[in-house]
Amino acid sequence: MAQPTQIRLSPSRVNDFLNCPQLYKYRAIDQLPEAISLDAERGTLVHTVLENLFSVVAEERTLAKALEFLPVYWEKQMLMRDELRTLVPDNKEWLDRAGALLTTYFTLETPSQFEPTDRELHVEINLSDSIYLHGYIDRLDIAATGEVRVVDYKTGKSPRPGWEEKALFQLSIYALIYWRTHGTVPKLLQLIYLGDGRMLKNSPKEADLVRTETKLLTIAGEINDSIEGNDWKTKKSRLCDWCSFKTICPAFN
Ligand code: SF4
Repeated sequence: MAQPTQIRLSPSRVNDFLNCPQLYKYRAIDQLPEAISLDAERGTLVHTVLENLFSVVAEERTLAKALEFLPVYWEKQMLMRDELRTLVPDNKEWLDRAGALLTTYFTLETPSQFEPTDRELHVEINLSDSIYLHGYIDRLDIAATGEVRVVDYKTGKSPRPGWEEKALFQLSIYALIYWRTHGTVPKLLQLIYLGDGRMLKNSPKEADLVRTETKLLTIAGEINDSIEGNDWKTKKSRLCDWCSFKTICPAFN
């Protein structure tokens, strides 16, 4: 019997597979190019500003400084993707919308009052023969007491009631990697939603992270089965309206 392939998984790819296996195939296996998503580009810009805000001294981490950074990092982003200049004809409106997200951030946290330990931290682990797990944590804060907080910024809105656990699954993957590599279970997982100014928090226990690990092993097994049988299920949902692959997807053809 053929050995299962070790699957390289990040929280985003796990999410893709759970949302729609066919979408996962297009992205992770076929690696098809995708049209630029302006929502994703706005998210990148806001993340870059927040990441760099912590490079300046604490007392300068103000909303005014964040808004000052916006056009600077937007210009850099456009230098890397020239098409953005034509896709975003109204620069002022674009920066105003990104600025509104940063304004919301300052209603939720006071960045001058703490020092993050890491930003955009790459974490990885060979979880098993079937999974190599990796990802980037937006921000990791370690308190003087040794307590660890894993923080992720979202530029969209918080999930509807009943969907919180699904949203927190991404952070539980980071928590699992951190626990397995450092031996400490993060005290707090925190999702910051800039779209509606809400925070989602969770304090995982070891047993929760063991459940996350079991779920990931199941997902890796399902992906291996799909690869072996070249059988990728489609899952129609509201996401299809934003899916770059709708025109070639078997569910619509
Ligand atoms: S269009 Fe919908 S069903 Fe098809 S790949 Fe995209 S998300 Fe999946």
